[in-house]
Amino acid sequence: MTVRVLGAMKAPMGARRKQKRLLEVAATDRTFEQKELDGAPILEGKCIHCQKKLSLRADGTPLNGATLEHIVPKNHGGTDDLENLAIACARCNSEKGLRHDHKRADDPRLQEVIARLRERRRRRLR
Ligand SMILES: [Zn+2]
Repeated sequence: MTVRVLGAMKAPMGARRKQKRLLEVAATDRTFEQKELDGAPILEGKCIHCQKKLSLRADGTPLNGATLEHIVPKNHGGTDDLENLAIACARCNSEKGLRHDHKRADDPRLQEVIARLRERRRRRLR
């Protein structure tokens, strides 16, 4: 029997860890506030790209497609550190992935997108 070793590849974030990370990003993003939905506490804030309303249950479960956005894409060495993460709607996140993340690291368009998201994340920090 052979055992496949994934070498230096990092394990993808599991659902639990993603939920925890979503809560941590929301806690540091001033667009997110405590609200209630059907009597249950939720956090409601805005997509880093399009400002669409996004909400999370108190345990971090995304209610309407909130996803973790890597500002510097993972394929360019972007980490799961809080400052490299933002919350984006699924649509914007996959659009950024398709349109920009595969570009070369020195591509001016990719650099521009990263710079813009960094600035927005910085302005939203609390
Ligand atoms: Zn969006």
